Amino acid sequence: MTTKAFVIGHPIAHSRSPLIHGTWIAEHGIDGSYEAIDVAPAELPGFFERLREGEFAGGNVTIPHKEAVFALCDSVDPLARTIGAVNTLVARAGKVHGTNTDYLGFLGNLDAAAPDWSAGKSTAIVLGAGGAARAILVALKSRSIPVILLNRTRATADRLARDIGGDISTGGLADFNAAAPSAGLVVNTTSIGMHSSRFEGFDLDLLPSDALVTDIVYAPLVTPLLADAKARGLRIVDGLGMLLHQAVPGFEAWFGIRPSVTKDLRTRIEATLEH
Ligand code: NAP
Repeated sequence: MTTKAFVIGHPIAHSRSPLIHGTWIAEHGIDGSYEAIDVAPAELPGFFERLREGEFAGGNVTIPHKEAVFALCDSVDPLARTIGAVNTLVARAGKVHGTNTDYLGFLGNLDAAAPDWSAGKSTAIVLGAGGAARAILVALKSRSIPVILLNRTRATADRLARDIGGDISTGGLADFNAAAPSAGLVVNTTSIGMHSSRFEGFDLDLLPSDALVTDIVYAPLVTPLLADAKARGLRIVDGLGMLLHQAVPGFEAWFGIRPSVTKDLRTRIEATLEH
């Protein structure tokens, strides 16, 4: 019987997940499918009934359902609760389990692109305190990396630091230059970088020469922050790998094969991005 998986959202037309999973299904010759399904918020409970009846092995969840599905799942990972969002569902024996693979995607991307990145455990500057920042703080905490969390709205950063716990100090974006000399890693999790928007007043020359700069915005692939860091000779890692690596655990749970993030897969997805 064909094993079916999905991504649900509303709207859903722009999701790149069908291309990612479709590539792996073809590569492994699996009798499976992965489809994008537009599910409006009012239709979500009915969709969960289809899941419990065994129509799908599971799937991904995107905007605006990442929080609403908590109430519909039969069980949810503690880490997904800490992150406050479910992005992956697994259906088994009439029950639906919710998890979040974004933090694994972040770690998988850096581990693949810069294998020594967490060895020194030097401080990370995290820019932004929204939904994606939660997953990244959980990821950095799992590697015991101290964090300076800088956000436009300081109170949001303070709240997030309290929620996650551990070694996190907070500040505003204007504190970047003061924090830079002690940072081994800079992670942008804000939407700055999309549509060529850029951070004002950041002096990247203040970063140590071996610092790594990464951005989770992947459209454009090389954001102004990454371009500036590269021009100064700093190591950079783009955000596309996070999108690809977060897809790995879900595919493995639904189809029973752990797929690889290959150069060919990256090239296919890159071809769909704004340059
Ligand atoms: P979000 O919850 O809306 O948070 C947005 C963050 O950006 C907040 O910290 C916000 O600060 C800040 N921000 C927005 N506009 C700003 C501006 N003009 N100046 C300064 N700060 C600004 O969004 P999210 O879900 O965390 O997503 C953030 C980005 O990550 C999006 O571009 C998304 O596409 C990307 N993303 C990528 C991946 C991946 O796999 N690579 C995964 C998830 C998300 P305030 O608190 O002050 O509003």
